[in-house]
Amino acid sequence: MSTSTLVTPLDAGAVRADFPILAETNERGQPLTFLDSAASSQKPAAVLDALDSYYRSYNANIHRGVYALSEKATARYEEARHLVADFIGAASPRECVFVRNTTEAINLVAQTWGRRHVGPGDLIVLTVMDHHSNLVPWQMLAEEKGADLAHVRITSDGRLEMDHLDELLRREPKLVAFPHVSNALGTVNDAAEIVRRAHAAGSLVLIDGAQSVPHLPVDVRVLDCDFLAFSGHKMLAPMGSGVLYGKRALLEAMPPFMGGGSMIRKVELGRSTWADVPAKFEAGTPAVGEAIGLGAAVEYLSALGMDRVRDHERELTAYALDRLAEVPDLTVYGPADPNQRSGAVSFTVGDVHPHDVAAILDGENVAVRAGHHCCQPLMRELGLLATTRASFYVYNTEEDVDRLAAALRKATAIFAV
Ligand code: PMP
Repeated sequence: MSTSTLVTPLDAGAVRADFPILAETNERGQPLTFLDSAASSQKPAAVLDALDSYYRSYNANIHRGVYALSEKATARYEEARHLVADFIGAASPRECVFVRNTTEAINLVAQTWGRRHVGPGDLIVLTVMDHHSNLVPWQMLAEEKGADLAHVRITSDGRLEMDHLDELLRREPKLVAFPHVSNALGTVNDAAEIVRRAHAAGSLVLIDGAQSVPHLPVDVRVLDCDFLAFSGHKMLAPMGSGVLYGKRALLEAMPPFMGGGSMIRKVELGRSTWADVPAKFEAGTPAVGEAIGLGAAVEYLSALGMDRVRDHERELTAYALDRLAEVPDLTVYGPADPNQRSGAVSFTVGDVHPHDVAAILDGENVAVRAGHHCCQPLMRELGLLATTRASFYVYNTEEDVDRLAAALRKATAIFAV
C-alpha cells in the first residue's frame, strides 16, 4: 500500500492573521503589501508575546542570579537554544552560539578559527554572489595574515560555476564559505554538494544561512557543514538575535572571540581560563528576550512545517515570475526555474532607476528594496548598479503579487517604458 506524501499547503491567509502589522494601512487607507522579508521579516503575535512576557514578567540577567526570576530567564534562554538546535538538526545545543546576527557569526569564525588557522599564502574560497558580510571579514583576515582569497564565478543565470569551484579546490583552500541562498539573485545553491566537494579537498566549510534557514528545511547533519551562520530577524524573530552553529570539536578548539564576563572559568589579574562552549563565545550580558523570541519564532515555523514554507514560497515565486513577465521591459535576474530559487526576486525595469521604481511602489504601499543589496561585487559582475527586489515569506499571497504587478505597470506608464 502506498502512503501519500502530500502535505496540505500552507494557508497564508490564516498566517497573515498572526501578524498584527499586516492589518495596518497607510494614510491613504491602502493595505500594506510587505515584500521585503529578505531584509527583515515581520513578527507574529507569538514572538511579540514572548518578548513582551519576558520584559513584563521575568526580566532578569541570566546564569548568575540565585533568585527565581533569574532562574526562569536562564531556563527560557537555554530552552530557546534547544529549540534552535532541534530546528537545524544540531547534535547538541552546545553547538549553537547566540550572536546578534549573521554578520557577527561570520566575524566570530574569521577572528577565532581564522586567526589561528589561516597563514601567509593560505587560500580562502568565497563566491562572487556573497553578501558583504561574507566578503569583508575574510578580506580583513587575509590582509592581516597575508592569505589569498578566490571567488567562485557565476553563470549568466546566476548559479555557481561548479567547474570553477573544482578548479579552486585543487588549490586545497583552508576554508570554503558561501551563501546557501543568494539574497540578491534568489539562487538556492546545492550546499550539500559543495560541502562534499570541499571536504574531499580537505577544506572546512562555512555556510551563510541568512537566506536559507528562514525559508527551507536546513539540517546541519545532512549538509555536514562545519559552520552555519544565520539571523533571527529574517525568520520572524526580534532584531539582535542570531546564531552561529559550529561542530562541537571545532568550537571547543577555537579561542574565544570577545573577552569579558560570562565567558570565563577563572580570572586572575594576569590571565584567565575559558568557560565551556557555547558560553566561551557569549561574553557579556546577552540579548535574553531576543533569544527567547527566536525560540518562539522557531516553534512557530516548526508548527507551519518548513517543507510547507518552502512549497508555499516556490509556488508564489513561480506565480510572481509569470506576472512579472507580463510587465513591459522588466528583466528578472537569477535562475528561471523556481525549483532553483528562493522567494527573493530581483529585477530592473528598462532604464528606470531601481530606487525610482521602489518609490512608485511605495506610493501604492508596496514595500520592496532597491539598491546593491550589500552585494556590490555581484552587481558589478551583472553590469548593474542596483536592482529592485521583491521577497516573499509565509504571510505573502497571490494578492500581494498582483498588487506588485499592478504597481509596476503604473511605474512603467509613468516612466513611459
Ligand atoms: N548574508 C546574506 C545572504 C544576507 O542576506 C544578509 C542580510 N541581508 C546577511 C548575510 C547579513 O545579515 P545580518 O545583517 O543580519 O547580519
